[in-house]
Amino acid sequence: MSEDSDLKFNSFVLKITGEVFRSPSTLNRICREIAHLPVKRALVVGGGNLIRGRTADWEKRLLFDRIGLLSTVINGLLLEETLRRYCDPFHLSSLPIPGVVEGYSKEKAEGAFLACRPVIISGGTGNPFFSTDTACALRAVELKVELVMKGTRVKGVYSKDPEKFRNAKFYKELTYERVLRERLEVMDQTALLLLAEAKVPLVVFDIFQEGNIRRILNKEKVGSWIC
Ligand code: UDP
Repeated sequence: MSEDSDLKFNSFVLKITGEVFRSPSTLNRICREIAHLPVKRALVVGGGNLIRGRTADWEKRLLFDRIGLLSTVINGLLLEETLRRYCDPFHLSSLPIPGVVEGYSKEKAEGAFLACRPVIISGGTGNPFFSTDTACALRAVELKVELVMKGTRVKGVYSKDPEKFRNAKFYKELTYERVLRERLEVMDQTALLLLAEAKVPLVVFDIFQEGNIRRILNKEKVGSWIC
């Protein structure tokens, strides 16, 4: 029996933070891990390595968010190119560019799922004043996936920033209710509310650790699980 027969989920959306694009070897390793998984998978791409709109003054926010949205398309193209070494990805964007990347639709994404192609989703929600976390939740609910994975630089969810506070407490399991009440840094509130309402479980994990994606699909105790 192949090790794939152990997988406990048939579909997921993975949020890939822009931080991953700072390291070509990490990006390549993640692509190798995702390429041949026998499940429906969509990869929502961040752009935070290039620009984050919320770091701008409010008057400049619209401009910075537009640049941020474009940066997710740039990362989407890099992800597409890297995945192409291993499989046949399908890149869709909420901010389409004729001749470069076509517009996202639920139907196109589902068509790619049927062909077992990984779907790259760039361009966030297509709107400023949102984040790729919200795009990730939106696409997860729309595509009715079984799990959302948010890849980060740290092991999961902590009581406070573990990169600043050595005594930060790590949480293995949480409810959406608690995450929202205590405003724990997981995803933005819009994204969390949507996932909570649709009852889609979320796992926050260290994407820089090799093998974690498969461990999560096997329901091993990796990262912080929220439901
Ligand atoms: N962005 C936006 N609307 C969206 C998604 C993203 O305006 O629906 C902009 C926003 O400025 C954001 C930037 O794109 O800061 C990059 O996305 P994000 O910060 O979510 O990337 P990550 O931190 O995950 O790398």
